[in-house]
Amino acid sequence: MQTLDADIVILGSGAAGGTLAATLSELTGARILLVERGGHFGREFFNQLEWDMSQALYAEKGTRSTADGAIPVRGGECVGGGTTVNVALSFNPIERIWRGWQGSGLEGFSFDAAASDYGIDHLNVPRCLAEVRGRTNVHFPADSEVNRNNARFAKGCAALGIRASRFELNMRGCIGCGFCSSGCAYDAKRGTLVTFIPDAIERGVRLVHHAYAERVEYESRGASLVATGVVVTVRPTQPGSRPNSLEPGTYRIRAKLVIVSAGAIETPALLLRSKHPDPYERLGRGLVLHTSLPFIGRAPSEVAGHQGVEGTMYSDHFAESDGFFFECLFGHPLYGAAVLPGFGRENFDLMLSFRRLFGFGAMLVDESADDNRVEWDALAGKPRIVYRLTASDAVRLRKAARIGMEVLFAAGAEEAWIASEEPLGPLPTAHFRDASEAKYAELLRFTPHRTTITSAHAQATTKMGTDPRRSTLNSRGETHAVRNLVVCDSSAFPASCGANPMISIMTMARYQGRRIAGEAARYGL
Ligand SMILES: Cc1cc2nc3c(=O)[nH]c(=O)nc-3n(C[C@H](O)[C@H](O)[C@H](O)COP(=O)(O)OP(=O)(O)OC[C@H]3O[C@@H](n4cnc5c(N)ncnc54)[C@H](O)[C@@H]3O)c2cc1C
Ligand code: SF4
Repeated sequence: MQTLDADIVILGSGAAGGTLAATLSELTGARILLVERGGHFGREFFNQLEWDMSQALYAEKGTRSTADGAIPVRGGECVGGGTTVNVALSFNPIERIWRGWQGSGLEGFSFDAAASDYGIDHLNVPRCLAEVRGRTNVHFPADSEVNRNNARFAKGCAALGIRASRFELNMRGCIGCGFCSSGCAYDAKRGTLVTFIPDAIERGVRLVHHAYAERVEYESRGASLVATGVVVTVRPTQPGSRPNSLEPGTYRIRAKLVIVSAGAIETPALLLRSKHPDPYERLGRGLVLHTSLPFIGRAPSEVAGHQGVEGTMYSDHFAESDGFFFECLFGHPLYGAAVLPGFGRENFDLMLSFRRLFGFGAMLVDESADDNRVEWDALAGKPRIVYRLTASDAVRLRKAARIGMEVLFAAGAEEAWIASEEPLGPLPTAHFRDASEAKYAELLRFTPHRTTITSAHAQATTKMGTDPRRSTLNSRGETHAVRNLVVCDSSAFPASCGANPMISIMTMARYQGRRIAGEAARYGL
């Protein structure tokens, strides 16, 4: 095994890892290695073919799901992580949520723009957020960018008096091709792939991709455990990827500070297989998925919802009262067929009217329940994701389903569907013929494999907090048990961050990067 030396090694190059690499290279003179499991694919590779891109850019080639196979758990596995394949919906961190966490002991993360947390000049959330928004060009899209699918959704909401708003998006120079989730071939989507990571590389950060972090290593120093580095396996570079900076092989990377940013599924899995101390069995517990339920309507005329910017309209009308959002999105045929109801002929017939279909989804801000968790399955060599909707989450999702059906009919649907084979009162399946039938959606049981729910926002599996009996990390993101080991990504949230998480994660990473630079001596940097 060859050995490499660095000051800081960052594991994972997604929303958090990419932002951290840029921030730490801007504010410190440290030698930084950015380690990414997936390939380094760019605009020249993104061919807008759903199958090819899901194989190359997504976790488990797009097949990652809960252990029972019932809920897809989508995530990016490539340089840029989720920000390379996501649809650019940009929500600021929600102050109400962070204040709630502070009430339970979370320190720092001041929302006062004059605050200097930890005594570090102007370290606060508004400043970090402004820097993230600026670099990723978060803005409101123009009226002309609202496609027919989103316009129909807005019309349906308006007819029922439901507040609908324009999303903010992190894009620049978007041509509205509609292929965000297959990677942007125009560098218009401003994920970390085209913003923070190139910034970091320009400042000397060494990016190693196709590189799987096998385990974090520690040693005892006095009474403490201290992280000393990580063992990484580099595999051969896949065709279409940019060249790598290391030859295939296994490496021991020694570092003064190890930062884990592998996302909410892989971060706890890595710590579990590294035998990180976990006396209260907190690692991986409390998984949040933002489970989503798609609603599909058939319009009398063409909608072509797959054309144009995918998501521009949403509704937070029920966010505070019931903890769900309506978000207007649409799929391309591969993903579309998977979330449409029916099998064989029935599914095919529906697909034949693909251009007249329109739809949106309910995204649930699900509770962080202990039984919902990530485990490390050593035999399978991958994480095991265990998740069931809690009873109270199911109640809220049923309400969302009923109102979602009403919105579709108010938006002009001739027929509507939820991807469910469950009989709902007099309806043999979740196929609705008019608005008066919407009430039957409240009978959904969300039986695994009979009703399709999806997810792409895993969070809260390696929680920050103060009490080691309830959390793995302190507010600095340092693990309670091991010095010089920091976790910073979607896993570090104490619970759901309350909306689509990308900008909250990047802001947290910018904040922790600034903090680490301001407290460099704490890590021997
Ligand atoms: C299809 C899709 C659409 C989405 N749309 C939106 C949206 O519009 N708005 C929004 O706010 N959010 C969206 N999200 C969610 C958002 O992209 C994620 O929440 C966010 O990227 C998570 O950031 P992260 O840093 O925690 O992890 P990630 O961005 O997932 O990055 C983790 C990285 O670590 C790498 N990694 C994992 N294990 C290892 C290992 N052992 N060794 C080395 N590297 C490893 C992974 O390959 C990955 O690249 C979407 C997600 C998906 C999948
Ligand atoms: S819709 Fe815009 S941001 Fe998305 S892939 Fe196309 S050009 Fe890029």
